[in-house]
Amino acid sequence: MVETTIRSFRFTLDPTADQEMNLTRHAGAARWAYNWALGHKIAAYDLRRAEISALIESGHTEASAKKATTVRIPSKAAIQKHLNRIKGDSRRHLPEPQAYGPHPPCPWWHEVSTHAFQSAMTDCDTAWDNWVKSVAGKRAGPRVGMPRFKRKGRARDSFRLYGIGLRLDGYRRISLPRIGSVRLHDSARRLGRLITRGIATIKNVTVTRRGSRWYACVLTEVTDASPPTRARRAGGTVGVDLGVRWLITLSRPLDPAVPDSDTTPNPRWIERDARRLRKAHRRFSRTVRGSQRRRRAARALGAIHARVAERRAGHLHRLTKRITTTFDVIGLERFDLVRASASARGTVEQPGTNVGVKSRFNRLLRDAALGETRRQIDYKARRYGSTVVHLAPGTPTNAICSSCAWENPPPRLGTDRFACGKCGLRVRRAVNSARNIERLTHRSVHVAPDTEETRNARGVVSSDASPAPNATTGKREGPQGSPRRSNPSVTGSTPVESETATSAGIPITR
Ligand SMILES: [Zn+2]
Repeated sequence: MVETTIRSFRFTLDPTADQEMNLTRHAGAARWAYNWALGHKIAAYDLRRAEISALIESGHTEASAKKATTVRIPSKAAIQKHLNRIKGDSRRHLPEPQAYGPHPPCPWWHEVSTHAFQSAMTDCDTAWDNWVKSVAGKRAGPRVGMPRFKRKGRARDSFRLYGIGLRLDGYRRISLPRIGSVRLHDSARRLGRLITRGIATIKNVTVTRRGSRWYACVLTEVTDASPPTRARRAGGTVGVDLGVRWLITLSRPLDPAVPDSDTTPNPRWIERDARRLRKAHRRFSRTVRGSQRRRRAARALGAIHARVAERRAGHLHRLTKRITTTFDVIGLERFDLVRASASARGTVEQPGTNVGVKSRFNRLLRDAALGETRRQIDYKARRYGSTVVHLAPGTPTNAICSSCAWENPPPRLGTDRFACGKCGLRVRRAVNSARNIERLTHRSVHVAPDTEETRNARGVVSSDASPAPNATTGKREGPQGSPRRSNPSVTGSTPVESETATSAGIPITR
């Protein structure tokens, strides 16, 4: 089966001091371009709102005022065109006030790759569209807010380059336009081989600073899926239960020779560094705003967070790869993460209960990165040719006994044990869930293959063990369910047609 998949490879960069300055400059340019584009959008938006309310006062209805208004939100193309006319050029010594005005906005544009500008403006279009669609209710997932300006030092330093000029320079260097050949901290041999075999092509490279290090995320298009190995076909079906106390519980061990390889305790990375983090926080809060010491303290704090993130990511990648290359069919339970991790604080009128316990639970929940685990299992399964089955939410996998199928009363939050009231089975709750998930997955794949009754439009297999009332109507999905999450950088790399945008010529400024 040959299909095209998007795969990303991330490398740590070892730039020279000059190159590092250059990377910072590119990130600065991207931030500037994003803010410039956003400023034009917001100015036009304010103008549009003012015009609409004036029209309503003069007798229009809201709908007809929206139709009658002539102000449109400019899209990337219009903003770019306008910028190109007035940006100025610091290389020209002749002052040309007629052409650019006395203070051209970015006469330094030629010092950085134009792609840093372009992709930042595309990102701004995407962010704006997401907001507009979210307000209109045309977008799945949690509500998206209005795009905000990126502040230096607050927003992540990042930029994206694409097109020709992006290539590997041997296995230890990557060549970036306008920046040069940057040394890689780790080997790019796997990617290099795919490229030489003609299987992979580089689409774009996102360069990001995290803590004090720079990373390059190379997005490639790969036209090859590894065929399932005999060992994996023999691995059969597995049920996966994701949790907080136990990060991943499988219905059968990863390695038959190691019986306890079916569970992975939550490593609780953030708690491991909790003391260090607290200390760094304290040190940070004792510094004076705007001081050199504060900057240094912030950097130290950021480095700890970056290390936690790094460990978490590495551990998760190893785990999900092993699962997707060991088993043929992987069953997962849908889980509403947004609702589960909402703060328990409640409102002033209706204060929540157990706030402290739940907030710790939520912190662990976020730390466990369940959504990320699912996302990785999903895309790695596609890459390695195994199948993922998502069970509909609401399946009471934690209440049904995996041994005698008797439906027990739902367990209390926080209990770790499962005890069947009928047959007396006593196991860890996650183990019981994982076994149930395996059974339901197995049935949906082998007994009732792809009929309309068992698979709805979203590819969610609903279990017939219990017709959950919200199995198909529960449209609210966690962030992992929204299509944008399936490959965040892909949508960002292709220019997105803006819905509100028309070519209004010159964007409106005030
Ligand atoms: Zn039982």
